[in-house]
Amino acid sequence: MARRALITGVTGQDGAYLARLLLDKGYEVYGAIRRAASQTLPRLRELGIADDIRPVTLELNEFSNLLRALEQVRPDEVYNLAAQSFVHTSFEQPIYTGDVGALGVTRVLEAIRTVNPAIRFYQASTSELFGKAQTMPQNERTPFYPRSPYAVAKLYGHWITVNYRESYDLHASAGILFNHESPLRGSEFITRKVTLALARIRHGQQDVLEVGNVEAQRDWGFAGDYVEGMWRMLQQPRAADYVLATGRAFSVGRFIELAADALGFSIGWEGTGQATRGIDRRSGRVLVTINPIHYRPAEVDVLVGDFSKARESLGWQPTVALPDLVAMMAEADDRRVRDGRLML
Ligand code: NDP
Ligand code: GDP
Repeated sequence: MARRALITGVTGQDGAYLARLLLDKGYEVYGAIRRAASQTLPRLRELGIADDIRPVTLELNEFSNLLRALEQVRPDEVYNLAAQSFVHTSFEQPIYTGDVGALGVTRVLEAIRTVNPAIRFYQASTSELFGKAQTMPQNERTPFYPRSPYAVAKLYGHWITVNYRESYDLHASAGILFNHESPLRGSEFITRKVTLALARIRHGQQDVLEVGNVEAQRDWGFAGDYVEGMWRMLQQPRAADYVLATGRAFSVGRFIELAADALGFSIGWEGTGQATRGIDRRSGRVLVTINPIHYRPAEVDVLVGDFSKARESLGWQPTVALPDLVAMMAEADDRRVRDGRLML
């Protein structure tokens, strides 16, 4: 009989790639979708799998709903990807962010414990847990220092996963994933924001790209690689926590330069701080300006991951280097803007 997986957050970036991976592996994939006024499933449609997912209406903040969903689906594996995942918004909506990102995890774990403790569980932990990072690079033993309501919520989600593993012997693993991007990334995140804006500028649909802190550095990988790591974690005989990363950090400014190159611009920088401007060397046109509205009340300056444990225990490694990832995203957005098929 086909194995069954339930994915919360199936409508998001990782949910779409993970659903495709599991379908390719022959799973029955149940996708948790919360009720919304408009339901177009753009990411699942873009991957051509919207009709292959078995939809389950599920709101992570509603325990009875979760319990019934697990009783109905009877999954072998649950991937908990649902979250209010945008750091900037978490400063505006800290309580809601905590409800989904912290207590939501407990609800899923409690439902698993009640319905079938043999269900294998994946929790979407994050490199944002390291926040004001205490060592470089960060691995599974690096102390956590979260810097946003999002990260604090995820800290709870992480430890409750560890706690249920240790208390009830659940096969519960947390993947501490560094930033991972793709053409399906939400357009509020810096990478997609940049590739979409520069594609629009190229096609005369936008004047300028406004960003915040261009000095911040992140370890950016390709989401398609990272969902493979999630699956491998749940195939291990014993549950554990793993860092997935590329081991290389780049600044936001460097990401913008690479995206500009991919779209036929060539960015040079002028000024400092809020007066920084990115200018196209070819046309002399200002393409990038700073708007402090995008600064965070507390910033995470630099994250870079050490994925040795995942490489050794899971045989996992990233396959897409940043310039190729940027080119993939830039090309996808260029095509979408040209064809008037925006995916936001
Ligand atoms: P997205 O923001 O693209 O997707 C989030 C998903 O969660 C969406 O499907 C959303 O549904 C769903 N969701 C949000 N709130 C609820 C709720 N109350 N009940 C049910 N579903 C809900 O995130 P990603 O795919 O990028 O990330 C997946 C997970 O991995 C997240 O938990 C994220 O925090 C974590 N993570 C991501 C990293 C990254 O770089 N991408 C790095 C490390 C961790 P809807 O479409 O209805 O809004
Ligand atoms: P995060 O690492 O989960 O916060 O992912 P984001 O893509 O939202 O942000 C990555 C980094 O880019 C952070 O340090 C942000 O401060 C920085 N950044 C700079 N300008 C912007 C912007 O305009 N939007 C976003 N989302 N991030 C920005």
